[in-house]
Amino acid sequence: MQKILEIEDVTVSFDGFKALNDLNFNLDVGELRVLIGPNGAGKTTFLDVITGKTKPTKGRVLFKGRNLRSLSEHQIARLGIGRKFQTPRVYLNLTPRENLELTSNRKKNVWSTLVGKPKNAERNSVAGLLETIGLSSRADIPAGLLSHGEKQRLEIGMLVAQSPDLLLVDEPVAGLTDEETENIGDLLLALAESHSILVIEHDMEFVRQIARKVTVLHQGSVLCEGNIDQVQNDPKVIEVYLGQPMDDSDTAHSLELEASGSEL
Ligand code: ADP
Ligand code: MG
Repeated sequence: MQKILEIEDVTVSFDGFKALNDLNFNLDVGELRVLIGPNGAGKTTFLDVITGKTKPTKGRVLFKGRNLRSLSEHQIARLGIGRKFQTPRVYLNLTPRENLELTSNRKKNVWSTLVGKPKNAERNSVAGLLETIGLSSRADIPAGLLSHGEKQRLEIGMLVAQSPDLLLVDEPVAGLTDEETENIGDLLLALAESHSILVIEHDMEFVRQIARKVTVLHQGSVLCEGNIDQVQNDPKVIEVYLGQPMDDSDTAHSLELEASGSEL
């Protein structure tokens, strides 16, 4: 299987403190992976070394086989890595359609996108994207009027409009209702048909909805990898999450309850 992302023995030290510690990680082309881990495990730093915001102290990050070490954040983004931050960053005074038109044509400036007529292909792809993110009926109202979940979906759409090969999504359902959470899950599953996706998430219900393979990060290294049941039943994972070893038959259930709270 071809790898879209290879992280080899990566360490990131901040004044001697290892936020990532000899981390090894691979993502297959077309894979949807969920990354979980307690606060401080290194999840955000992990995304930062992929996007080039932080350079490894040691080790290599390869994207489509290419070493990213000498590339800037901007160059890495242009190679096809898109990152969705936790809070939506959409233009609230523009409509969802305009937001998508802006991002689907980065070469034009804001002004010419707004006054110029979009080409047919562009218009079609924006319409298709609106459909994909479930915002066709809300396409022409100011984005400021969208719900938090709709804004999250719009921002995911804006990310997709830039045609990345790898989508990095940081905690997309924090603060969302159950229904909106499920919508985001369905959207990521749909996008997974044509993209490689790495999602960081705390909400275990959501992880269960979308996850095939889960990676657990702890103290800057991979603690465990497997399907959701394997991970939730792994004694090391239970210990890390609950702070003490547990061996009764309720452990998986306890972890789930514990993990359903937003912060782990
Ligand atoms: P997570 O996202 O899993 O909560 P982070 O990647 O944000 O974890 O942080 C991992 C560890 O590295 C934490 O202990 C954090 O305090 C530390 N850390 C992160 N960024 C810096 C930095 N720029 N300088 C010093 N320490 C940092
Ligand atoms: Mg974080």
